[in-house]
Amino acid sequence: MPWRAPSPIDLYDLLPKTNCGKCGEANCMAFAVKLVNLEAPVEQCPPIVEDPKYKQSYEKLKELVSPLVKEVVLRGPKCVVKIGGEYVLRRHELRYVNPTAIAIDVDDSMSGDEIINRVKKVEGFSYEYIGRMLTLDLIAIRSVTGDREAFARAVKTVVENSSLPLILCSLNPKVVEAGLKALSPEYRPLIYAATKDNWREMGELAGTYETALAVSSPGDLDTLVSLARTLSSNVGVSDLVLDPGCFIGRGGLSYTIKAFTQLRYKAIEQGFKDSAYPLLAAPISAWTSIEGNEKAKAWWESVMAVMLMTRYADIMILHSIDGWALLPLVIWRFNLYTDPRIPVAVDPGLRVIGQPDEMSPVFVTGNYALTYSIVSGDIEKARINAYLVVIDTEGVAVEAAVPGRKLTAEKLAEAIRAYGLDVKVKHKILIIPGRAARLSGEIEDATGWRVMVGPMDSRDIPGFMQKQWIPEKIRELMSGG
Ligand code: SF4
Repeated sequence: MPWRAPSPIDLYDLLPKTNCGKCGEANCMAFAVKLVNLEAPVEQCPPIVEDPKYKQSYEKLKELVSPLVKEVVLRGPKCVVKIGGEYVLRRHELRYVNPTAIAIDVDDSMSGDEIINRVKKVEGFSYEYIGRMLTLDLIAIRSVTGDREAFARAVKTVVENSSLPLILCSLNPKVVEAGLKALSPEYRPLIYAATKDNWREMGELAGTYETALAVSSPGDLDTLVSLARTLSSNVGVSDLVLDPGCFIGRGGLSYTIKAFTQLRYKAIEQGFKDSAYPLLAAPISAWTSIEGNEKAKAWWESVMAVMLMTRYADIMILHSIDGWALLPLVIWRFNLYTDPRIPVAVDPGLRVIGQPDEMSPVFVTGNYALTYSIVSGDIEKARINAYLVVIDTEGVAVEAAVPGRKLTAEKLAEAIRAYGLDVKVKHKILIIPGRAARLSGEIEDATGWRVMVGPMDSRDIPGFMQKQWIPEKIRELMSGG
């Protein structure tokens, strides 16, 4: 059955109702609301976990807030990647939970230097997009030689140069085990993959080394779910990941998208347990199935990755490390996994742009992520040394924040105090957004600072500065003119 969000009252009835505050909330009802919004785990309420008299309520609560797709956790020494854990088929019904994890491959035929070079590129990939850093998540180590020692060597080289979680790829259980032995206990990798030919050995390996296990049956969904059922109920491996295959070419792409959709639809809309696992996509298959040069292969890999991210892939393996191929993917992931109920916001605070001094301008903006990134970008591009005061407008754009009283003179007065602006600059002039012009008088009264109304559009800041931020004007304002 599709997930139906429980009401806060349903959850409140199961909580201890003592309002003890140990969960960090003022009372049990506030905590129930957090549970409904998936903003806190049940375990954040210590009494319900620790007191045996709440055992039944605890179990019922867990059931009510559990995702319909199992959440699988992969670990490296310094970071954790969670995949799956989804509740809904369509994002607007709630939100998607765990962003698709992106792995880049290395293989055991590469020299040590080649591996290190690729690993460093993966670790170093980052792109700032509306106030967030977009990065890659894992390294997939592929055995192409079939040689245990070569694979173990490749795994060692990776772990000496990266702390990202891993996918160990080989259909030979002995090769996978050689790789597992090269890992410290801090790692919890995904091993790829169990098939109809090796499922028992791979299942036992996953059990012995407590790893997650990918199950692969390209082009055959019946076998895929049957393997998942056997591995779960007969071998006892619960952290499975399903790979239905990734095909390109005539009919291949459409089959692939349908297969991913069908598995997720059955898990969420029909409660079919054997497909209720994270889905793995391998757009890297473009590199062997597409004719043409490297650019064509990377282009198809990227196209397939974007499509499958949209159609429920929870983790994917890619080969291309080119920015032009990865950027669309990480930006699309950011947008897809943004909570549609919450405006995208950056942290409020004082940003220092360039090397401002005591006569540098002080700009004001709100913390809606898009506004912030455009305004700060325009100031940076114009090479203006400045302070930028980012007010907490609850993620609302300035145009709506002014009438909605999210951007107020009082908030600005508080910001000036909190960030010590009286000490940092001596001119006491604020440049407010053109769309907040109506607040000028209130701001001057509340802060004691003078206000310059900036342009309506931040791209006009350079021209505005040339005309307005001039010694005579500043002197005039400083003298109270
Ligand atoms: S810790 Fe539990 S019992 Fe205490 S207020 Fe929070 S929800 Fe209620």
